[in-house]
Amino acid sequence: MVKVPESSGSAPLFDYAPAPESRAVVDLSPSYGLFVDGVFVDGGGRSFKTINPATEEVLAEVAEADERDVDAAVQAARRAQDRVWGRMSGRERAKYLFRIARIIQERARELAVLETLDNGKPIRESRDVDVPTAAAHFFYYAGWADKLEYAVPGRPDVRPLGVAGQVIPWNFPLLMLAWKVAPALAAGNTVVLKPAETTPLTALLFAEICQQADLPPGVVNIVTGAGATGRAVVAHPGVDKVAFTGSTEVGRSIARTVAGTDKRVTLELGGKAANIVFEDAAIDQAVEGIVNGIFFNQGHVCCAGSRLLVQESVAEEVLDRLKRRMATLRVGDPLDKNTDVGAINSAEQLGRIRDLAQVGEDEGAGRWSAPCELPAQGFWFPPTLFTGVSQAHRIAREEIFGPVLSVLTFRTPSEAVEKANNTPYGLSAGVWTEKGSRILWMANQLRAGVVWANTFNKFDPTSPFGGYKESGYGREGGRQGLEGYLR
Ligand code: NDP
Repeated sequence: MVKVPESSGSAPLFDYAPAPESRAVVDLSPSYGLFVDGVFVDGGGRSFKTINPATEEVLAEVAEADERDVDAAVQAARRAQDRVWGRMSGRERAKYLFRIARIIQERARELAVLETLDNGKPIRESRDVDVPTAAAHFFYYAGWADKLEYAVPGRPDVRPLGVAGQVIPWNFPLLMLAWKVAPALAAGNTVVLKPAETTPLTALLFAEICQQADLPPGVVNIVTGAGATGRAVVAHPGVDKVAFTGSTEVGRSIARTVAGTDKRVTLELGGKAANIVFEDAAIDQAVEGIVNGIFFNQGHVCCAGSRLLVQESVAEEVLDRLKRRMATLRVGDPLDKNTDVGAINSAEQLGRIRDLAQVGEDEGAGRWSAPCELPAQGFWFPPTLFTGVSQAHRIAREEIFGPVLSVLTFRTPSEAVEKANNTPYGLSAGVWTEKGSRILWMANQLRAGVVWANTFNKFDPTSPFGGYKESGYGREGGRQGLEGYLR
């Protein structure tokens, strides 16, 4: 059936038949252990449940690593680094990385379905973005493993750091694992990785992939758990390098923990990116870019374009078209191949989004949500925008980490720059204009690690990614991503 949209807020153009991806491809075990020294072990005894945020169904019981378990993992990683991995030629290491990359491709469907079940993100995204980009990271860094003498300009004699302790968040579980593990292994380090408490399952499937690839025991160790497990990894004296992605608050506490030690650190923290639309931009494309910038992955994206800066002369038109487009977003079952916006990852995160949205209203901003029916079970928040937002509003300053867009306006390019840079963060920005000279000028002015021009949220393993200011330090991706794992 075809419906004609009448105005913003109208029903979608088409009714879609359900198109659910089968979950039969995933072989879920009722319980999972830790992956230490090449095998799954029980750990200290405590465990926690991981659930499907779209249905609240318990997916599995997962072991919670305590300090002793983390110690065992670090020791296994040390042995593997000293005896096997650190001594192996780059050419040999590359073979393992290529093998892992190919197995990720071969098991792509299984990984995508599992990621969607555990995280709540639409299968369209886990299938088309998370999993292929994770494989691409392993392919890319496999190519570097035997060329490390060219990785750091002027320093052909680089060496691995040793054992890397890596703590990752829940928004891109497998992809963040790949961002961390691939460069570390290529550079000759071994790793102890802690996935987020709410999304441990694809990391555990990755552990199986390491077994399948015959990766030597101890090169990759996965310790599941919550914040305390992460703290134990970061604080362990046998860890030479800490790599963290997550909130600025936890990033600060990690920086305090490692201060005064000789551990190397890279921190990939929060963001409050400006997505800047000039009056000469191709408006329909810009609207797609705004939607992709903030509603991709339910807005659980550190580099999300969560502040829309739109030139006053086109603000009304952009908002009108944006609302129409938002009204066509399909929110619901993440396993349905037609779904655009899935479930919020946890009840806790949903609470945070709701609280900040309420603050937006209390501070006087105008709230508008796309008309959509939210499922009764699970954690859901409709795609929402706020107009009449001023720079002082908390929704313009704080990372909401959900499908919520704050809209501000500007008149001149320099005002756009002032407003875009008026944030404690500096991870990313977007510029929409038809003028190449303006793109280059803006890119020079914006204090952000990544500036996208006439696009948004594009990720490529060859391109360095990282922040200014409170968005963290160090770069991941590209040749630069290797520097953090070499001495
Ligand atoms: P956290 O920063 O708490 O979580 C990131 C990872 O660090 C998780 O694996 C977490 O474990 C672990 N961790 C928590 N505390 C410590 C600690 N003291 N030492 C070492 N590791 C620790 O993010 P949250 O999940 O709590 O999300 C809170 C907010 O952070 C979000 O609302 C969002 O604004 C922001 N965030 C930003 C991200 C980004 O990429 N910029 C990613 C995730 C969140 P566990 O999962 O068990 O808590």
